[in-house]
Amino acid sequence: MEKTTNVPELFGSMVFNDQKMKERLPRTTYKALKKTIQNGEPLDISVANAVANAMKDWAVEMGCTHYTHWFQPMTGVTAEKHDSFICPDGDGQVIMEFSGKELIKGEPDASSFPSGGIRATFEARGYTTWDPTSPAFIRDKTLYIPTAFCSYTGEVLDKKTPLLRSMERLSNVAVKVLHLLGKEDVTRVTTTVGPEQEYFLIDKKMYDARPDLIFTGRTLFGAPAPKGQELEDHYFGSIKTRVAAFMNDLDAELWKLGVLAKTKHNEVAPSQHELAPIFSTSNIATDHNELTMEVMKKTAEKHGLVCLLHEKPFAGVNGSGKHNNWSISTNTGENLLDPGKNPEDNLQFQLFLAAVVKAVHEYQDLLRITVASAGNDHRLGANEAPPAIISMYLGDDLGALVDAIINGTEYRSKGKADMLTGVDVLPDFKKDNSDRNRTSPFAFTGNKFEFRALGSSLNIGCPNYMLNTMVAQELSEFYDTLKDADDLDAALKALVKKVLTEHQNIIFNGDNYSDEWVAEAEKRGLCNFRSLPEAMEHYVDQKNIDLFVGNGIVSEAEIRARYEIELEHYAKQLRIEALTMIDMAAKSITPAVSAFVGELTQTALAKKSLSASVSVYAETSLIEELSASLEGFVKKTAELEAAVTAAAQYSDDNLALAKYYRETVFTLMGELRAFGDAMERKTSKQYWPYPSYGEMLFGV
Ligand code: ADP
Ligand code: MG
Repeated sequence: MEKTTNVPELFGSMVFNDQKMKERLPRTTYKALKKTIQNGEPLDISVANAVANAMKDWAVEMGCTHYTHWFQPMTGVTAEKHDSFICPDGDGQVIMEFSGKELIKGEPDASSFPSGGIRATFEARGYTTWDPTSPAFIRDKTLYIPTAFCSYTGEVLDKKTPLLRSMERLSNVAVKVLHLLGKEDVTRVTTTVGPEQEYFLIDKKMYDARPDLIFTGRTLFGAPAPKGQELEDHYFGSIKTRVAAFMNDLDAELWKLGVLAKTKHNEVAPSQHELAPIFSTSNIATDHNELTMEVMKKTAEKHGLVCLLHEKPFAGVNGSGKHNNWSISTNTGENLLDPGKNPEDNLQFQLFLAAVVKAVHEYQDLLRITVASAGNDHRLGANEAPPAIISMYLGDDLGALVDAIINGTEYRSKGKADMLTGVDVLPDFKKDNSDRNRTSPFAFTGNKFEFRALGSSLNIGCPNYMLNTMVAQELSEFYDTLKDADDLDAALKALVKKVLTEHQNIIFNGDNYSDEWVAEAEKRGLCNFRSLPEAMEHYVDQKNIDLFVGNGIVSEAEIRARYEIELEHYAKQLRIEALTMIDMAAKSITPAVSAFVGELTQTALAKKSLSASVSVYAETSLIEELSASLEGFVKKTAELEAAVTAAAQYSDDNLALAKYYRETVFTLMGELRAFGDAMERKTSKQYWPYPSYGEMLFGV
């Protein structure tokens, strides 16, 4: 009999969480640490020493020998360097030690992390700094300490630091606004995030036979299987035994790490699934999402599976995204994006709503930029994910309220309607105020916004620090407008009306996938950036630099560095994809098809020598067709190879380089694939060197 899991006991068992701190820290230390965590107060070294010691004692009891400063550099994946706790005791023996200094500061060599030219490699020093607001945890007998990462000269080299700064900035301005509105008891405002994570699971044996998946995370060749997702039988379908075993294991591993894994189900594409946690602070949600992705990969391995987090592993079926559910709440427990029963009378809600509307309108380019990646280029605007045009969906109820405010007309909420099931044994219940609009990139969903354009592999730190910063900017402008008003109520109403009127163009409640919307959005002056290079170009627009610098998030040099890093990374990824295709084409596909044609030729000749009247129609027509395709394929391979070589001419201009890869190399890759996939359809299974789409997508 399988032992049942005691979830409350399991949950957080690998985390140095509040309960353990309380048990293990002297009272004064615990209190000081709590102040830092809850109110952002600076931390004293004596507190750090006590915390370090308690953490080490706990970790050693749990079997740990090492600790690591865990950080999120600009590579897009997390990084760690492990140090043991050993310290010579002077008698040739060692004791296990860990000081406050070691907890606070680590020194990984920073020279090989992307810095976008901020640092020359000889200025290698980089520091990691403990983030006490995200709890330490144990994995693989190592104590993991979440940290921020910066250079010797103080430049930000990671994704966590700007996020923490943006949270603090938003808190400061939101608290000022709330005090103005009479909420004197609010001392801190926190942004919250619940990221829904999509992924694919395929059999490890299939994966191992696909160099494209190994090197690039997506299939670069592959004819579609006879069946795709058209029957819609996978979405919320019953979960296969092997996948269910993986999911159960994954839940348990995540719970141990304190991740609030809540919902799991099958997604639209075959072999595609989703996991959603219960929301937490933006900072913890970001760390936990990074952890979730890592644990997914490791757990899959244990089950003979591979977890694919690429945005578009398979052509022809849906790719994977991440829905970033985002809200703002106060330390007094109020969700500032909750409209309440009477949003028409709730000026505070209207003000925060107006801030989000204005932010999304004015910084739509940044929201698009923050979700841009080589992988996500396959999704955005390709009729499966939200389009590349950023707009907002407010739903019927809130949409009607906004219209009423703009037009100065009367509005009364319809309230929640009863849902009548029409069957006596089924309970009736209250319906949500609005239906869902699954096509909107930025949708209001009751008491939060769901930013849906994120790619599945993205570190959610970036979109969230942008979101926090732009909303902070609007709130601080609102504060300046309102702070000296004689009649606050009237000033508030006038401000909300003005903002919603000026920014209503960002609101769109219709079908975001329709061609009419593309035309309409253009008329409204909304951006439509189809690819990363097109979008990224605007990252360094003056208004965006002003936003980040003005709010103290990152400096202009750091923004320019990030811009270079993203463009360079994009070009490198496309280069790897092109080289992988060339390799697969030259070393496997061409020889395989040629050999198959050779066999057909032998067969035809043998048949003919047996008797001239035997039909060789099948062989001849296949030989002709495959030979023609193969010629096109080999020539296209050479063209692609030449195009990659020619990229060198743009080596001193990352934007031009990225554009070249997108426009020239990427287009040739598509053409090469078309030849390859056509040949796969006609080549014997015995000869084709790679597992098929059917085997990969329906093999688990
Ligand atoms: P929906 O059905 O609208 O998608 P769910 O309740 O299923 O809403 O929530 C989806 C995700 O949104 C979950 O991860 C959930 O924790 C998260 N979420 C709910 N409330 C908030 C909030 N106030 N802030 C951030 N995320 C939230
Ligand atoms: Mg959702």
